[in-house]
Amino acid sequence: MLRKYLYKFVLIILLVPTIWVLFQLEFEKPSLKFIPDIKYIGKIQPLSIDISDRKTGLRKIYVGIGQNGKDKTIHSQSFPYSLLRKDRVHQVNLNLEIEPRTLGFRDGEATLTVSVKDYSLKGFFRGNHTLIKRKIIVDTLPPHLTVLTSFHYLNRGGSGLIIYKIHEEIARSGVKMGDLFFPGFKGKLSQKEVYLAYFAVPHNVSSPVRIDLVAKDYAGNETVVEFPYHVRKKIFMKDKIRLSEDFLSKVKARFASKLGSPDGPLDIFLWVNGRLRSQNHQRIFEICSKTHQEQLWDGPFLRMKRSKPMAGYAGKRTYYYRGKPVDRQVHLGVDLASTAHSPVEAANNGIVAFADDLGIYGNTIILDHGLGLFSMYGHLSNIQITTGQKVRKGELIGYTGSTGLAGGDHLHFSMIVSGVFVNPIEWWDKHWIQDNVVTKLRNVGG
Ligand SMILES: [Zn+2]
Repeated sequence: MLRKYLYKFVLIILLVPTIWVLFQLEFEKPSLKFIPDIKYIGKIQPLSIDISDRKTGLRKIYVGIGQNGKDKTIHSQSFPYSLLRKDRVHQVNLNLEIEPRTLGFRDGEATLTVSVKDYSLKGFFRGNHTLIKRKIIVDTLPPHLTVLTSFHYLNRGGSGLIIYKIHEEIARSGVKMGDLFFPGFKGKLSQKEVYLAYFAVPHNVSSPVRIDLVAKDYAGNETVVEFPYHVRKKIFMKDKIRLSEDFLSKVKARFASKLGSPDGPLDIFLWVNGRLRSQNHQRIFEICSKTHQEQLWDGPFLRMKRSKPMAGYAGKRTYYYRGKPVDRQVHLGVDLASTAHSPVEAANNGIVAFADDLGIYGNTIILDHGLGLFSMYGHLSNIQITTGQKVRKGELIGYTGSTGLAGGDHLHFSMIVSGVFVNPIEWWDKHWIQDNVVTKLRNVGG
């Protein structure tokens, strides 16, 4: 009898550790993730890794870099053991910083090693092992930039072109002006690889205007280069617009059904002229953020035939209702009037980026001329082309009208450089094109 109990007792004594051992034996490897993924190591490189082990928990972490047989530890950590799984460490977010120069590494290839072990009893207590060895590039030098264009005469509200060379592969480059960024595009001119960046000086930019050329490589090293430029002052027209009851009731009829518009003719007008206008400009900015990677246009842009300018670019408009000023806006294009329903031609070669209703601009066409340059045609009565279609300079694309926030039949024409409205006058002018684009391209061998 006693012997029977003893057997049971011994069996339990043996079984408990066996079950426990089996419980600690699992085959799930620790997981690790680079956030963000890493391929390059810059001068001071942040490195974030999420490491986790769901089952038996983390035992040991090692992060190191090796180059030409030399290995340096970046981070090494052991985690305490506990009999209970829930008391062990299961999740770690490593935020490290690597300074390759301080560690004695040179620019070039290196190997990043991350090793993580858990508390599984697999492999005679060695645990599950996740080992990542990854080829990375140590790059501590900022990109070297050479500006190829010698001078940049700019107008307030005008456009500019800078051509430059970069001596390595880069992540991005372009012209920076305050919060604005105008990307540069890689082009080939006479076998030479160069970058072209079209940029704009906004009509309302604050003085003195600070413009820089910047380039960033994949390791995050950035070069900022000053280049010679001069911004000419420009006076823009002031306009008074009287809002008639008749016009306000037309605006109400057109826009009252739009989502979010208020009641009352003047309130509707103010909502359209303010809120809807800025929504439409945001949409235009988005449309113009995707562009063809080659220059599609050639020669001066066409100005609508037999038309009279009714309002100019960057004109400051004050709106009067019953003799009182009620609103102010800036006109970001040129209004051209001819006979009603006049044909509208593509101002230059391009691809149709947008052809639809666009709020205050009514039926609108936006053409992409490549490298961030766009032309826009508003208030059309009729659209003759579709999005994605290629158009030739002078091709019929639509007819003038008075859709959107237009008082009468006219064409609203805008030029846009990387989302910024610029003065179309420069793009219509063959001398401006010659001096600011053609000669520059030719001087670098284009
Ligand atoms: Zn207009």
